[in-house]
Amino acid sequence: MIYLDNHATTPMDPRVLAEMLPWFSQRFGNPSSRGHALGWEAEEAVENARAQVAALLSVRPDEIVFTSGATESNNLALRGILEASGPGPHHVITAATEHEAVLAPCRKLSERGIRVTVLPVSPQGGIDVSELASAITPTTRLVSIMAANNEIGTLQPLDTIGRLCRERNVLFHSDVAQAAGKVPLDLQAAGTDLASVSGHKLYGPKGTGALFVRSGVTLEPLVEGGGQENGLRSGTLNVPGIVGLGKACELAMLELQGAAANGTVPLRDLRDRLWERLTARLPRIHLNGAADGRLPGNLNVSFDCIKAESLLMALDGKVAISTGSACASTGGKPSHVLAALGLSSERIDGAVRIGLGRFNTPEEIDRAATLLCEAVEHLRSLSPNWE
Ligand SMILES: *Cc1c(COP(=O)(O)O)cnc(C)c1O
Repeated sequence: MIYLDNHATTPMDPRVLAEMLPWFSQRFGNPSSRGHALGWEAEEAVENARAQVAALLSVRPDEIVFTSGATESNNLALRGILEASGPGPHHVITAATEHEAVLAPCRKLSERGIRVTVLPVSPQGGIDVSELASAITPTTRLVSIMAANNEIGTLQPLDTIGRLCRERNVLFHSDVAQAAGKVPLDLQAAGTDLASVSGHKLYGPKGTGALFVRSGVTLEPLVEGGGQENGLRSGTLNVPGIVGLGKACELAMLELQGAAANGTVPLRDLRDRLWERLTARLPRIHLNGAADGRLPGNLNVSFDCIKAESLLMALDGKVAISTGSACASTGGKPSHVLAALGLSSERIDGAVRIGLGRFNTPEEIDRAATLLCEAVEHLRSLSPNWE
């Protein structure tokens, strides 16, 4: 099987696994144990990982809180900030194409009387910053806009949004789960106050993540107990997972800097090669999202006269891709992201998400292109609507 579903999850890098293994068994100490060497070495490993995560985001290590993933980080950011904000009225601004892990907590806040504005996006998936500027009011507490979309890969202008929020004295949270390690991020310069990271989206372990919280920003924890992570996330730290997340961030940074590129083809070139092969052979196919300003590994494509579900069946498990987002596809609902672009229902029904990753080879991409073209041609030959 050729794995092209790297927005749903990425395979763990073998170098990450190697780094994690000792921390499951021989080096099993609790980083909160202050009385012996097993505790000290675990604490040191956690602090090393904290520095690795911070470096990838260009922030300070003491601004990183370890969590179980981007879902928890998003919840902690949104609920934590609003709960720390005292009596209202309060206002939150987000966008229609955000991940459910942002939209669901926003709905919860709205049930509690907080006003939530959900900004529309352009047909390419970008927000209009002037629209954001007019949505900000004196009660606006937080703006939450993702760095890169998990279905269409569209990148949002973090710097511009950050500058605006800074000027208007509004906190800015960004879900960077898809962007971290894929495109350079300087959250310090971008004026971001909070950002959510997921380990398994950047070749690290599942169930790991982090929230960047700019120093001086106060929030209420979701989980209370032993007071770990500056009281923001109680519970004994997942040392092997944290070590893995740190290593994954270190490797991602090397990859971004090109230091790990020992003769391998950059992701963007592989993605463009796949698109060229598809468009060279198949008429009437459409790219959903932005042609420029998208994640290097992302393609979201609709094929006229083809239902995405049928295409997945016709591929017979030889190429792993998805319809819409992995979460939305289990619910059988049309993608809220593609709907927000204003696409027709035919275009949405025909959309597949293709996510290339670190371990894909040019040979795999050529093979996947052939398999996709053959499947589409076969389905079209059976379709009464295709001529
Ligand atoms: C995967 C993903 C999440 C959820 O991350 P988990 O670590 O699986 O909880 C949140 N936001 C975006 C943009 C994602 O791609």
